[in-house]
This record gives sequence, structure tokens and C-alpha cells, in this order.
Amino acid sequence: MTDLSTLILERIRDVPDYPKPGVTFKDITPLLADHAAFNAVVDSLATGFQVDKIVGIEARGFIFAAPVAYHRGAGFVPVRKKGKLPAAVLEESYDLEYGSATIEVHDDAFSPGDRVLIVDDVLATGGTAAAAVDLVRRAGGEVAGVSVLMELAFLKGRERLKGVDVRSLVIV
Ligand code: AMP
Repeated sequence: MTDLSTLILERIRDVPDYPKPGVTFKDITPLLADHAAFNAVVDSLATGFQVDKIVGIEARGFIFAAPVAYHRGAGFVPVRKKGKLPAAVLEESYDLEYGSATIEVHDDAFSPGDRVLIVDDVLATGGTAAAAVDLVRRAGGEVAGVSVLMELAFLKGRERLKGVDVRSLVIV
């Protein structure tokens, strides 16, 4: 295991039965509060990607995507929950365990051919990331990859992202 994986695993707190029974929530707040760990994660999330824009997925994705964009000299684009963005949007809906969710992006967020990296904290079932990939492509961006802090391998999110370069700093 690398030093970075160890650092991340030591700073992510498992909260059992949150937000509902049977779910173990990966709480990133101890990692964010640790300057060295937060810096190392921001430095690593975009390593190896050539990018023009970084997409952050609301809400915890924003925390990582904005400093990654600054660090890499790229633009930041928010993908938000339905109804939060003020101008014209494209939307994608996807299934959750119970019900569905909709995310949106401004329809003019990308220039044609922009290389876009999608950043989030946790890759679980992959529904959110797959919807973000579809949104970026429909809005004219070229998806360079999906980069997450932590991947929950048992939920097989990668299988919904076939053909996409998916990278995780730690896989559990
Ligand atoms: P999914 O669409 O199932 O891949 O879920 C990914 C989104 O839900 C990400 O934006 C995560 O922030 C959040 N998420 C899913 N499962 C967890 C978990 N166990 N702990 C923390 N966040 C989670």
C-alpha cells in the first residue's frame, strides 16, 4: 500500500448506518481537516490527465474539484442537483436504490473539444458518475476521465463506466 493510500484510509471515518441502516458512510471531514492529507489528495486527483476543465459533482465533489482546477490551471464547472443552476441547463436522471435523482450542468459550460475530468469523493454504484459523463458529452466536452478519492469496489460502479478512464486513489 502506498503512503498516500495509508494516509487517506487513516483519515476517512466509517459511520455505520448513516444516512440509513445498512449503509456505511465514508466521512471525509477528518481528511479535509488535515492539511497534509488534503494537499496530497488535491495534488494526486488529476495526475496523469491532460485537462481543460474540472467538473465537480455537488456537493462533496466541489470540495476537491475546485482546488484541483486551481492547482492544474484548469476551469471549474459545477454539476448540481436539479434546480440549483440559474441559466439554461442540460439534465440527466438516474436511478437510486429507491427512486431517482437528477443532475444538471449549464449548457454552455464547455467549449467544443474541452478535455474534462470529473471529480467526486466516493464512487459507489457509479450512477452519479455515469450521469455526469453523459452530461459532459452532451454539452460538448470530451471526457478525459473520472477521478475519485475512494472507490467502493463491491458496488461495481466501474461497470457503469465502460470505456471511461476511472481512477481511484484508494479502492476498498
Ligand atoms: P453512486 O451514484 O452510487 O456512485 O454514489 C456516488 C455519490 O453518492 C457520490 O457523490 C458520493 O458522495 C455519495 N456516496 C455514495 N455512497 C457513499 C458512501 N458510502 N459514503 C459517502 N458518500 C457516498
